Amino acid sequence: MAEVARETDYAPHHKKKIAFILSAMRHFASELEADGWHVDYVRLDSPENTGALPSEIARAAQRHSCASVVVTEPGEWRVLDALASLPEQHGIAVEILYEDRFICSRNAFADWADGRKQMRMEHFYREMRRKTGLLMDGDKPVGGKWNFDAENRKPPKSGMSFPGPLRSDPDAVTQDVLALVDEHFANHFGTLEPFWFAVTRDGAEAAFDRFVDVALPRFGDYQDAMLRDEKYLYHAVVSLYLNVGLLDPLDVCRRVERAYRDGHAPLNAAEGFIRQVIGWREYVRGIYWLQGPEYVDENVFGHTRPLPDFFWTGSTEMACVRACVEQTRDEAYAHHIQRLMVTGNFAMLAGVDPRAVHEWYLAVYADAFEWVELPNTLGMSQFADGGLLASKPYAASGNYINRMSDHCNGCRYKVHEKTGPEACPFNYLYWDFLARHRDTLGNNPRLAQPYRTWDGFDDARRRNARDDARNFLHELDRSATGRAV
Ligand SMILES: Cc1cc2nc3c(=O)[nH]c(=O)nc-3n(C[C@H](O)[C@H](O)[C@H](O)COP(=O)(O)OP(=O)(O)OC[C@H]3O[C@@H](n4cnc5c(N)ncnc54)[C@H](O)[C@@H]3O)c2cc1C
Ligand code: SF4
Repeated sequence: MAEVARETDYAPHHKKKIAFILSAMRHFASELEADGWHVDYVRLDSPENTGALPSEIARAAQRHSCASVVVTEPGEWRVLDALASLPEQHGIAVEILYEDRFICSRNAFADWADGRKQMRMEHFYREMRRKTGLLMDGDKPVGGKWNFDAENRKPPKSGMSFPGPLRSDPDAVTQDVLALVDEHFANHFGTLEPFWFAVTRDGAEAAFDRFVDVALPRFGDYQDAMLRDEKYLYHAVVSLYLNVGLLDPLDVCRRVERAYRDGHAPLNAAEGFIRQVIGWREYVRGIYWLQGPEYVDENVFGHTRPLPDFFWTGSTEMACVRACVEQTRDEAYAHHIQRLMVTGNFAMLAGVDPRAVHEWYLAVYADAFEWVELPNTLGMSQFADGGLLASKPYAASGNYINRMSDHCNGCRYKVHEKTGPEACPFNYLYWDFLARHRDTLGNNPRLAQPYRTWDGFDDARRRNARDDARNFLHELDRSATGRAV
């Protein structure tokens, strides 16, 4: 096992993300040793460390007199390329084994996708339900419906209590890693401490058990809600554990199904959770590998604006965006609707270059790895692939954010004002986005209603919205410093 600089700096990762991965690696190495394995472990600050996976593999092969290495499928095109370079650059043969931490293999996904005009997640998800038998009564879905999402959009209510995720205390191994990260990555984005992520399988299992016990019953109902003072609501906060292999996706889904069958959680919660894991999570991975390394270049709207500085600083008067960025900085976590409907929505409406948006999401979240982050960002949140992944852009005005959150109460902008200096920027940016991209979106049947509404506005209203958007974006460009981290 090797901690290599190339993996810590291919993106300006959040400090908590680096600490989480390094500490989980070190704990895993100790567990293997306790089980009797010999682990050859190269630390990040070891003087001999060459800083890249291929050269570290080559050094290890020499130490152990190996002519070939056996690896499991990596999670990114970048790492696959690095491994593929081993035979030519280092004279080492490589055998790549099937990765069994996913339910649907790359080949099985390619077979499913073959010949389909549209690769909709919902169709894939039904196949996965049949394949795993999760929430099935024979060949029928439990409850008579595949999807209970319509019940999962309740706005937050005041007076609700939120249990929050289980917090682990850093042990001596983690303390060492925190000191290392503090020393080597001081200029990276994010707050390092308090650090409370689990870094072992037992710790991740305990965190998941707590989620099932105290949060799962309400997970479905408030899945899309956002509250200023509640970072986690009823979300599981387990993507980071699933993505590094501390939790197994099929196992967590079986435990959630059991909670439903034991009467502990309602069907809309259990189905909602299982759909995210065997549906969305597996589906985006399939798309990532199917689309190839060029997927990252998709940009159907031709957006070119640099990422605004406030994505790094949180320094904006838009209360919803500020809250998401500050939470991201402190926790390396934001839940799905924060990522999709606040920061992602803003970036798309403002015409930010989707690659810059992708690079930000890849850096700032503890769960971010390209196979899952890229399709979510580029496809789902920016619609940059022209609708491969989403049937319409996730574009929304301030009205949506106001309905699903309490951010607007404390904002300098007024969410009900459509134009003018007090108006919520999401309002005029939304209409400007639709007007700007009518050539690309005008024939989308799911946008017929918004375009009818736009056409029904009088000339002055349309002109004001477009002028306000232009002025706002001009001001955004004027204040940009091109800051990267
Ligand atoms: C722009 C954008 C970027 C994203 N980047 C990532 C990323 O880098 N890594 C990542 O794991 N997820 C990513 N997601 C998906 C989702 O936001 C996170 O998985 C989720 O917020 C993690 O928090 P949680 O564990 O509390 O999830 P919960 O809401 O409790 O959901 C349970 C689990 O379902 C899975 N899941 C839910 N939605 C998705 C999804 N759309 N795609 C894949 N898995 C999903 C996750 O494993 C998650 O742990 C992104 C979404 C968007 C819109
Ligand atoms: S008014 Fe607009 S900018 Fe302010 S919090 Fe609400 S949606 Fe966000």
